[in-house]
Amino acid sequence: MDLCCIFDAQIFSLMKDIQMVDLKSQYNKIQEEIDTAVLNVIRSTQYINGPEVKGFQKELENYLDVKHVIPCANGTDALQIAMMALDLQPGDEVITSNFTYVATAEVIALLNLKPVLVDVYNDTFDIDVEAIERAITPKTKAIVPVHLFGQASNMEAILEVSKKHNLYVIEDTAQAIGCDYTFKDGTTKKVGTIGTIGCTSFFPSKNLGCYGDGGAIFTNDDELAKKLRQTANHGQSKQYIHDRVGVNSRLDSVQAAILRIKLRHLDAYSEARNNAASFYDNAFKNHPSLKIPKRVAFSNHVFHQYTLQLKNVNRDEMREFLSNKGVPAMIYYPIPLHLQEAYTDPRYKEGDFPVTEKLCECVVSLPMQTELDNEQLNFITQSVLEFLNK
Ligand SMILES: *Cc1c(COP(=O)(O)O)cnc(C)c1O
Repeated sequence: MDLCCIFDAQIFSLMKDIQMVDLKSQYNKIQEEIDTAVLNVIRSTQYINGPEVKGFQKELENYLDVKHVIPCANGTDALQIAMMALDLQPGDEVITSNFTYVATAEVIALLNLKPVLVDVYNDTFDIDVEAIERAITPKTKAIVPVHLFGQASNMEAILEVSKKHNLYVIEDTAQAIGCDYTFKDGTTKKVGTIGTIGCTSFFPSKNLGCYGDGGAIFTNDDELAKKLRQTANHGQSKQYIHDRVGVNSRLDSVQAAILRIKLRHLDAYSEARNNAASFYDNAFKNHPSLKIPKRVAFSNHVFHQYTLQLKNVNRDEMREFLSNKGVPAMIYYPIPLHLQEAYTDPRYKEGDFPVTEKLCECVVSLPMQTELDNEQLNFITQSVLEFLNK
């Protein structure tokens, strides 16, 4: 063995393990702050709705520039509470994207509302605004755009449709917290603060993740904020006075204390994700078998996922090749909602959502997180290219 090979082998063995999301390395950098904050909550014994929850709420309101943040237990609850507070009635139709995480459609079905699925744009994965218009009926009450993978849906076009038809807009911001939407007049707003209500998740792997479950709801409407708060708290207006049927959905104080610290790093985290995405873009942009994620003019990108589209590539073989090299790659999402057992509906059959169905076959997401270094990025991109150029 010559010296060069020994050297190579050593570099390889020193490389940090590559993970889709590296929560451990991220924690290590803020460990002291986090440990102190968590210990303080435990010692305070103010576990439920304590000062950390109020503090986080205020800080997130400032960060998002929104009047009301209502913390809750997770992102799925946030969506459910939003639909409950809007007093939607059984049979009301709610339009959402077919290419999303199941939670979005799940809460619609759970409340006996009717999920109406629409296709997405091929290049941005976002809900197709013309398809929304075609799906509107007299029973339609709301649209739920999903800012998928960290880039905003076309909110100005969606707002135009919602105004014309008098519909609520509930933004699913679980994958895009911190993302800025730019209006045609040049003004910007954080996603989740543009429609009637915004919903987000603090699941550990999300862009602003806690160390367990958490979620929040945003609105600029004072009356609606009151209803959202009541709905999340057993429908209670005053102690032991219950004006509406609600749920019990709270963000706990330990998670709030962690989120206060991580919120201060959120913009730096988004930047780290963008750096990784640029590295991937540069490596892949000219490869004929790959389509890199499109950036749109009206939104920046916070890269919850970096998702490639494969052209004439055996995706299973590629994932296995990468996996053998220690490079994870995931498929978000492998099956459209209308082909899931729980959401089959006589209205829909295979072939009805050609873009979503095609995307489910050809997308692959590479490791995307705040702790990827150039050595890892280089190894990931070289491994992908090695497979494609075999
Ligand atoms: C994660 C996610 C949710 C649900 O959030 P939880 O906190 O896991 O309940 C909802 N919608 C989308 C698009 C998500 O990615």
